[in-house]
Amino acid sequence: MPENILIAIAWPYANAEIHVGNITGSHLPGDIVARYYRLKGNNVLMVSGTDSHGTPVTLAADKEGKPVEEVYKKYHNGFLELFQGYGITYDLFTTTHTENHFKVTQAIFLALKENGYLYTDKSMQWYSPSGKRFLPDRYVEGTCYICGYEGARSDQCDNCGNVLEPEKLINPRSKEGGALELRETEHFYLDLSKLEPEVKEYLRARQGYWRDTVIGESLRKIESEGLKPRPITRDLDWGVDIPVEGWTEAGKRIYVWFEAVIGYLSAPIEWAQLAGDKEAWREWWVNPNARQIHFIGKDNIFFHAAWWPAELMGAGNAFMKIFAEDDKPLTLPFDVPANQFMNLEGKKISGSRNWAVWGRDALTRYDPDAIRYYLTVNMPETKDSDWDWAEFVARNNNELVATWGNLANRVLAFCYKNWEGHVPDADINTWRDADRNLLATIENGFNTVGAELEAVRLRSALGEAMKLATTVNQYLDVNAPWTAIKTDKASAALTVYTALKAIDSLKVMFSPFLPFTCEKLHTFFGYETPLFGEQYVEEIKDSLGTHSGLRYRGVDGVQWKPSDLKPGQKLNQPGPLFKKLEDSVIEEERARLGK
Ligand SMILES: [Zn+2]
Repeated sequence: MPENILIAIAWPYANAEIHVGNITGSHLPGDIVARYYRLKGNNVLMVSGTDSHGTPVTLAADKEGKPVEEVYKKYHNGFLELFQGYGITYDLFTTTHTENHFKVTQAIFLALKENGYLYTDKSMQWYSPSGKRFLPDRYVEGTCYICGYEGARSDQCDNCGNVLEPEKLINPRSKEGGALELRETEHFYLDLSKLEPEVKEYLRARQGYWRDTVIGESLRKIESEGLKPRPITRDLDWGVDIPVEGWTEAGKRIYVWFEAVIGYLSAPIEWAQLAGDKEAWREWWVNPNARQIHFIGKDNIFFHAAWWPAELMGAGNAFMKIFAEDDKPLTLPFDVPANQFMNLEGKKISGSRNWAVWGRDALTRYDPDAIRYYLTVNMPETKDSDWDWAEFVARNNNELVATWGNLANRVLAFCYKNWEGHVPDADINTWRDADRNLLATIENGFNTVGAELEAVRLRSALGEAMKLATTVNQYLDVNAPWTAIKTDKASAALTVYTALKAIDSLKVMFSPFLPFTCEKLHTFFGYETPLFGEQYVEEIKDSLGTHSGLRYRGVDGVQWKPSDLKPGQKLNQPGPLFKKLEDSVIEEERARLGK
């Protein structure tokens, strides 16, 4: 039975380009798992979008002196180009600035209100008398009253990680300059304390299979600190309107932390509309058997593992009543395999100091699979990892090129030359133990690599596949068809056919990680149906204007199972899959950093 699997990936803020740390943190692991489950024949829906609201985006617009809409679209369109370049196969990558997202967000807000989880309260907020407006969170900085860090935001300290009460900030200063004063303001709050028992129960039920780092940042944190109410509206004029009379008019909008996560629900609804089957999103959202897997970085764990399930549990059946005249609860996240951070050459990645490897820029010099490979073998699954240019070159040359690329290339080239562009007409009745053993080992790889992929241990999954490539190399060293062909062509044919079958299987196992080169290898084998489908951009119109969505058109074809390569199949002219990198790359790249 095919399963319905929602691959839900963190929504990037439209205020900065995406760097390699972001790619390995969430987009790439999500894509690898999505591609695997598609090959397994499951119904996969992979979504995300640009987080277009919130003060990071309005601050970026202020800094660039441009309208906020123009700025969010500039970054959004850059994201779409990057995901196409790296083959991150979103079924829909949209934005939060859509009519659909507004409607879905407002329905969640109203459902929570109806169920008694919202209340209004007054608090003190920093106000700019010259600008005649309240200055939300990131517009005000000062010294953290908990740890003494001088660059704390008024709502959160990036040094100690604590959520702050704006009025307690020491030496507050406006990012826009000018005087500040505290004024009273009114906001809606989500009463998370009421939902604490349900959230704990939800997390305890998942304790057995979630990463320990994620349980630590969610369940253990709630057990020690409890869940506290949080404001879900803000004094800001850019964002989702509040569906209660008078609030939007008063210059308030829904707080971005509350609404961006709702994108995991609104994006599938938008996808269903685009697919021409408006109710199709229910397969992943109103279905207790659907599995929702969230790919995020460690800074987002609490949002996804505690606050987001709380929003869903609090909305309960009321969301469907308001939104779809139905009476069913929404599906809760199944797993949140959050990654830790990737550093760069021993230091924390910093966009503002240009201590970063930018995703789009790196693609102008390296092939996407070379980068995908290094980002997977170095993925920060259990602890922070480090991008090191010397290691990038070494692993590309010693593993990708030497172990896997050369294996595929030398066997295909040797076969193409000696058997007139066809798979040898080997007689499998004469298969020797060594041939059978090799193919059995490779066949078993579909289980072992698959099990690691399902457990979201992607480094280990790729390592298993690479070990199998080494096994094929050892088989070839022993059976040496290049020597045997001179004396016993039938024996050489059998060895080459066996090795090709193994490589054809390994191609499937490597394909979620290395989709571009596996697709190329697939055509060398002479297959006509591609391994994967196509990405494309669609312009979508609604009452808020036009936005671009990245889409994916799948194919029915190759599956997660051993090769069925037939003797005699016609091949296409093979060529190298990967490029060897010069050592000079290391110093060239290091010289770019921090400039
Ligand atoms: Zn602090």
